[in-house]
Parts: sequence; C-alpha cells; structure tokens
Amino acid sequence: MAKGPVRITFLGGLGEIGRNCAAIEQDGRIVIIDAGLMFPEPTMYGVDLILPDFRWLIERRDRIDAIVLTHGHEDHTGALRYLVKDVNVPIYGSALTLGFARHRLTEAKVAKDLTFIEVADGERRRIGPFEVEFIPVTHSVPSAHALAFWTNVGIVVHSGDFKLDLTPIDGRRTDISRLAALGDEGVALLLCDSTNAEEPGFTASERSVGGALRRLFLERPERRMVVACFASHIHRVQQIINVAKEQNRKIVLMGRSMEANVKLARKLHLLHVDAADLIDIENIDRYPPGEVCVICTGSQGEPLAALSKLSRGDARFLKVGPDDTVILSSHPIPGNEWTVGRVIDDLHRAAAEVIHSGHEPVHASGHARQGELRTFHQLIRPRNFVPVHGEYRHMVHHAELATSMGLSPKHVLICEDGDQVEVTQAGIRRSGQVPAGFHYIDGSAGDLDERPLEERRMLAEYGVLQISAGVDKDRGTIIQPVRVTARGWFEGEHDRGLLDSVTNEVRGALEAALRDGNRDAESLNKVVQRAAGRLLGQKYRRQPVLLPAIVVL
Ligand SMILES: [Zn+2]
Ligand SMILES: [Zn+2]
Repeated sequence: MAKGPVRITFLGGLGEIGRNCAAIEQDGRIVIIDAGLMFPEPTMYGVDLILPDFRWLIERRDRIDAIVLTHGHEDHTGALRYLVKDVNVPIYGSALTLGFARHRLTEAKVAKDLTFIEVADGERRRIGPFEVEFIPVTHSVPSAHALAFWTNVGIVVHSGDFKLDLTPIDGRRTDISRLAALGDEGVALLLCDSTNAEEPGFTASERSVGGALRRLFLERPERRMVVACFASHIHRVQQIINVAKEQNRKIVLMGRSMEANVKLARKLHLLHVDAADLIDIENIDRYPPGEVCVICTGSQGEPLAALSKLSRGDARFLKVGPDDTVILSSHPIPGNEWTVGRVIDDLHRAAAEVIHSGHEPVHASGHARQGELRTFHQLIRPRNFVPVHGEYRHMVHHAELATSMGLSPKHVLICEDGDQVEVTQAGIRRSGQVPAGFHYIDGSAGDLDERPLEERRMLAEYGVLQISAGVDKDRGTIIQPVRVTARGWFEGEHDRGLLDSVTNEVRGALEAALRDGNRDAESLNKVVQRAAGRLLGQKYRRQPVLLPAIVVL
C-alpha cells in the first residue's frame, strides 16, 4: 500500500496565546495534540472562556485514536472538559499533566468514563498510526514533554512549551542529546513554541528566581511575606517554600487550586514540604508576621482568586497591612495588565509593601528566547518548519529565525488557526482550511456565538436606541409620532441634538415609504432601522443597537 502524506490541522494557538490544539493525521487516523482554552479580552463582554472550534474533530470522531498532552497548563488542557463529551478516546501525558487535567475533568463531572494513560520521560508508545516519544523539556510546570511522531514521511517533532533551563529546580533538563539524536535520524517537520521568538538572548533559569526571593526575604525578617504565583508552577512554589523554611517561617497556602495542586505534586513526589511546616490559614494569627509565609493564587489579578480578595480586604482570617510584603512572582499575561494594576493599587491602599517583576527579578518566563530557539533548531535541523504557539508577530519572527538558520523559505510556512498542511517526502504545502473560529463560553448561559457578542460590544460602546411610531394602515399617515429614546447616551446637548436629527431622518424615511404604498410592519421597521443606522454611522460614526418598533394600526 502506498504510504500517504501526513496532514496537520491547526485548530488553535496560531495567532493567539491560548486554546492550543492540533490534529496529526495519517492514513485516515487522527491523534489530537492538546486541547486548551483561552481567557477573553476585556471587550468580550460576558465571555468567560474561549475554546477551539471542535466541529472538525467531532465530525471525524470515529477516526480519532487518542489525545496526547504536552503539559498541564490550561492553555493546553483546559478545553478537554468540553472535547471529551463528544470525543472519548484515551488521553496520554505525564503523571502530573494527567493529574492536573483529571482534577479539572472531575470538577466538571466528566472524568468518569475516560481512560488516562500515564507516560514516563523518554517513553515511546504506539498511539494510533504513530510511534510517539515523550521527550522531557523544562517549562513553567513540571513534567512537560516535547513529542516526536514517527510517520510515513519521517519524524514530526512538536516542541510543546519549553525553555532550555540548564539548572532546573528538579534537575530534569530538556533532553538535548535526545533531540540531537532525532535530528541525526532526520526530522521531516518541526512545530515549535514561538511565545518568546521576539526576545533576544536566553530566558533566565527558574533557579535565579529563588536567589531573588531569598534576598528579599532576608532583608525583611520581621515582615509577613505573601507570595502570589501560578498554582501550577510547582517549582516556583518549591522555591518559595525553601526560602521560607530557611527562615523558619510556617507556610500557609491560599486559594483552592494552590491547595489542590500542592497536594497532587506532593503525592507524586514532585514537591517537598514537611506537613509540620504547613499551617492552616485559621491559625495564622498565632504566629508573628516574621514567622509566616503565605503562598497564594491570583497573580494575574483574577477577581475571585486569593490575592484579589486579600487586596480588597475580603479574605477570611487574613488582612494585609503595614506588616506585610506582597510579592507578585509572575508577569501579567497580555490583557491582564489592567486588572493586575488594580490589585497592586489596592494592596498599596492597605499600606502593604508590593514587589513585582517590574522592579525585582521575581519571575522567569517558561518559554525559550531566540538563543534557545536557535539551539533547538540546530539540534533538530528539520526539513520543514511551522511556528506554533504565538501571536502572529511571534510566529513571523520565529519563521525569520528558522530561515536565518539555513532553512529555505519554501520549507517554512506561517499558518493560522484553521490551516491544514500536508508533509510529503518533497516538502510541505498548505492543503486546506477548516472552521477554527473562537468558540465563546459564557459561564451562566453556555455557548455564545459571535452575534450577541458583537451586540454587547455595540451596546457597551454606543448604547441602544429605541425608535417607535404608529402608522394608520388605510390612510398611510403617521398617527403616533416618531419617538427616539436612548439608553447609554450622555444627556448632553450634543447627544440631544443627535437624537433630534435621528427623529427627523426616521420621520422622513417613514413618510417616503408610506407614500410608496408600503404598509407592512416588518418592512417599515427595516426602513426605519436602515435610515437611522445610515445617518448615525456615516455622519456621526456611531453604531448603537437599534430597536425599531413601528406598529401598523
Ligand atoms: Zn502554552
Ligand atoms: Zn505552558
């Protein structure tokens, strides 16, 4: 049988940081790589989550053999709880990756009939039509993997999210020699993390953060230290614990996901802390400030997380004040700067000292910068390359980096969500396109499509206008005068003048339609809507939501 090409379908993560998902396909069989979610921008009113569009996968569910997970971050696993309702196939990943994923799936009550298959570092398994190897990489969550697929056309390597940290906290380095060996064997296609492709140099080792924290703690022996970081960043949590322990501080965990993740990581021997060093938040006042360290969630300013509650004075058992130093051991994800800024302001209002990555090296990224990307490319020496995991500009920079490393531009493709590529012995080409728009989830209402969202944006920006009038069916005259009422408008002179001109415009359009013999309510409403919309859009650059209510009596 002739061996077919390998096809990759990108369902998310190419053009945005978030909702990573791809499908790799050969001889009619499909393996899914990651199923992540994305958090909305502030202008996506009422949207809680954004998922990949899974329709393409669901239509092919009989051909899907497995889901493989690169690591446990939400932008790679957070959409599983929606996907597994329609696509129930074995899920592969490291013990921690699966532990995190399973916890969320259990919370969502969809974990019961699922099959989880744990893989060890360096393990190679038959998954669907491929041999798949799980190669250790360093990242901002432990037990992350790059993936190698043995296919009809050669090896396809997916970097996962990674950095080349040579002094990781757990001693588990990115397996550079294995990557080099794959390069020697011949890699047909590399898909590689582009997050930091614009940044020159090398990402600082996670260990450097421990040094900064130690110094800050040592300078403040009398103060209570409160450190916020991602709950999944087990190595960061470990370093905070180590520094606290050196000063004989007791540790308090705050935030549900912090408690759950620490529990899981301890069970898997990925985090080391004596039970005697952990105290419950209820008992925090039994210790002087200099003998306590709080580790909490909310470093992204999430309104319901522990740090936001602390900043507002809403947390039970703990009020931050002049004796507290709060360290945000994180960097705001683009889009979160504003909310993080508000939390920092509120902490200052409470008279706490605040330290963040803007002025102290209390955070290190989990993603490779240009120096590491160059090293990665040199190790793999792929025949073809597609940058993944990035906003568009990150992928462009990554593509340029690849060509500067000697790859011919015709073997480098910049793809976006929905693109399909086909890899053959000869090269790579774009082979199709599938639906891959944002799938919006509103926590209370469920699925949202683009239309209500667009309306919410218009409402927020321009308000709403109701246009009413009554028309006499027989005589074709206006018997209840045209009235235009606004909501969300300023009551100033300018807006009142604008309402008057809308009223006149609508009256004119309505009268003209009636003269033409139009007596149909539906079409008269359209006439009115069009007239008002045209005037407001063209002359005043406003697009309020228009609610015409013309009645024919
Ligand atoms: Zn990611
Ligand atoms: Zn990640």
